[in-house]
Amino acid sequence: MQENKTIEQLEPTKVFHFFHEICNIPHGSRNLQQISDYLVNFAKERGLWVRQDENLNVIIKKPASKGAEKAPTVILQGHMDMVAVKDRDCAKDMEKEGIEPYIEGDWLKAKGTSLGGDDGIAVAYALAVLEEDTLIHPAIEAVFTTDEEIGLLGATALDTSDLEGKMMLNMDSEDEGIFTVSCAGGGCAICHLPVVFEEGTGEKLKLTLTGLSGGHSGVEIHKGRQNSNVAMGRLLQAMSGAEGVRLLSLNGGTKDNVIANETVAELLVSKQGKKQAMDLLQQEYAALKEETAVTDPGIQLMASEEGEQTVAVLSRESAKAVVLLLNMLPNGVICMSPDIPNMVQTSLNLGVLRTGEKEVSLTYSVRSSKESQKHNLVTRLRLLTEFVGGTVEVEGEYPGWDFKQDSRLLEIMKEAYREQYGSEPVVEGIHAGLECGVFASKIEGLDAVSFGPQMHNVHSIQEELCISSVERTYCLVKTTLEKLSKLS
Ligand SMILES: [Zn+2]
Repeated sequence: MQENKTIEQLEPTKVFHFFHEICNIPHGSRNLQQISDYLVNFAKERGLWVRQDENLNVIIKKPASKGAEKAPTVILQGHMDMVAVKDRDCAKDMEKEGIEPYIEGDWLKAKGTSLGGDDGIAVAYALAVLEEDTLIHPAIEAVFTTDEEIGLLGATALDTSDLEGKMMLNMDSEDEGIFTVSCAGGGCAICHLPVVFEEGTGEKLKLTLTGLSGGHSGVEIHKGRQNSNVAMGRLLQAMSGAEGVRLLSLNGGTKDNVIANETVAELLVSKQGKKQAMDLLQQEYAALKEETAVTDPGIQLMASEEGEQTVAVLSRESAKAVVLLLNMLPNGVICMSPDIPNMVQTSLNLGVLRTGEKEVSLTYSVRSSKESQKHNLVTRLRLLTEFVGGTVEVEGEYPGWDFKQDSRLLEIMKEAYREQYGSEPVVEGIHAGLECGVFASKIEGLDAVSFGPQMHNVHSIQEELCISSVERTYCLVKTTLEKLSKLS
């Protein structure tokens, strides 16, 4: 039992000693000078090779243990920044003060703040390995990156030319027993459609489609939930069958990587066409509601009538182009992985729809673990958008990490896992970005596995790290290193 122990007394003591030290240093993203310097001093005090770059990334190298000099160098990797969040009542200044971890049963938590187990535990593991002198291991390159939580910034900026390792243990996963071997690359594709406004008169109608389930476009895109922007396009297409329906504006969604769950359309309808327009709308909405009963049970359509008005409306041609894009551009899951069961390989999400003074823009989060499919998807967006007179720009691209069929590291880690746990680990890919993708794009032929001890609720004040899982996972790291040291 771990009851009545201090953190420094928890096993493995070296790992928890370093984890405790890290807790004492504030290390939220963009506040990393102190922790980065701490890592540099750690290396200097032990006479280890170290390099700190201008982005505060730190690389520390340790030679192979005796007899393992011929084994291939191994990279141990994690990010030094954490998501620093606190409870409303917590008086702590997280920029300046450390956090206060405490033990509750088999769990480590922090008083009033996030714990930073993500990814402080990787830093602690690497420091413990660097410090222990009884371990059998190949040459080690410990790579501590910065600002992972705000867009993989440190890893992206890192110059990897002084790294020799082609095998990498990324210790930034939160489920014990799961090895992650693939992640999505992505980017944000913005379709700009120039539009023309003209004067129109009619009864103004505001349609609000709301209450959809929404969710994260990486983690939940396969759940078949409706995207309110796309669904609104469908409703507008149905209404276009009536006479005198004019479009003023369309706005929906908040972020490219969030499945849009509310969209507002402003319209004008003519006196003669109104009844038909409303009938068509009701018919199509009834069908939509029925189709989404399971995925989006909260869906709601509100129509408010705002009286006779003369206002700027989109030209017929502009409105037609917008509705065409909403109906015809791809959205959602494009294909599943043929290698990894139940993993989405390629998808996109129309997260944000905006009407400006001169254009309507459609912002998509595009993801794929295959770079070629990601590019093909952007091409599909471009083809149709350009066909109706628009342009597509891509920003914030990050690389994917494709499953490596012949991974030696995965075989060794599976073997180590089997010996220790007496069962098979789950091997999976995730449809979101990981630093492994960035490293895979920089290191030719990189063989990597991402794993880690059990954590819950990372990035929140409920974050907790399983103490016994930290010990089991450290054991797995040590066995893996020992097995790798026998390779040549
Ligand atoms: Zn992390």
